Amino acid sequence: MTSFPSDKKLSARESRVIGALLGVHAGDSLGATVEFKSHRQIASRYPNGLRQIIGGGPFNWSAGHATDDTDMTRGTLLAYRDWTRGDDIARLAGDYFLKWEDGDWPDRVMGSYPDDMGDATSRGLGVYRKSRDPDHAGAGQGSAGNGSLMRCIPTALFQPDSDRLISESIRISKITHNDFRCTTSCAVYNTIVAELIKGAIPAHAVMSGEAVGLRLENMRPGEVSQAVKMGKELKVTDMAQRGPPPEMKGGASGYVLESLTIAIAAVLDERSFEDVLVDVVRIGNDTDTNAAVAGGLLGARDGESCIPQDWKSKLQFGKEFEDVALEMMRK
Ligand SMILES: [Mg+2]
Repeated sequence: MTSFPSDKKLSARESRVIGALLGVHAGDSLGATVEFKSHRQIASRYPNGLRQIIGGGPFNWSAGHATDDTDMTRGTLLAYRDWTRGDDIARLAGDYFLKWEDGDWPDRVMGSYPDDMGDATSRGLGVYRKSRDPDHAGAGQGSAGNGSLMRCIPTALFQPDSDRLISESIRISKITHNDFRCTTSCAVYNTIVAELIKGAIPAHAVMSGEAVGLRLENMRPGEVSQAVKMGKELKVTDMAQRGPPPEMKGGASGYVLESLTIAIAAVLDERSFEDVLVDVVRIGNDTDTNAAVAGGLLGARDGESCIPQDWKSKLQFGKEFEDVALEMMRK
């Protein structure tokens, strides 16, 4: 029986890769308590922000229990672990998502439906279940929720080729979220993560992501470029104090570009992993996913040792994520 977090000596790169995965999980588990709560409701209950992983929330989670964000990230992670030459990585990921939907999942009853599946994920997986073709699946144009962005990070960690990173990010998104804003956000986000893992400073990592977004927009800055730009301008501290700003018309309640904007503002915030993530949750509404997406970037930036010990110790899949990541990096 090994302990978690392990006492193994990690290289800087290993620490950042594990930090990225645990960052998603920690953000998800921290934010789950106040999911769907408005900025005002959170401010009155937690005037200084929610600083502990305590569970509860609309689905009455136990502390550190994975919600859909972490579960689907796990599906993507295990797909990369299982991949061998000739496999279609997107199909492996899609098949894990079906297992999750079917209850073939740790601590779940076979045949039970996830408590918290998003609408586009449900519709997109329905199409995928029939086609078993990631390129002919998805909830369709106009469904631009953050449900693929929240689970995309393993591609950045385990696909070293930058062009394949982009194509695999897009194809894994398309299983459920085939809208251009979703597929492009995943490619931009994963490019930023990959640069952070290499040790780039956050501003440079964001510039690399921005360049990928612009390329996918055929060099005419569109909505995704605008979302990145907004992330560079907005301050997490302001949003934590006042709630979602007026230019964030969806109110940070699940629109993919708003989650991307918040995550970019978070990674450019120089404070600690903990302080930034607590403030992301304070913004309100889709707190678990906004914090999961931001947590991935912060963990890739700061490494696993910067995630509070008492948060890490509560994470349902913390040990598995660390074990799988180490196994893949050290094989
Ligand atoms: Mg969730």
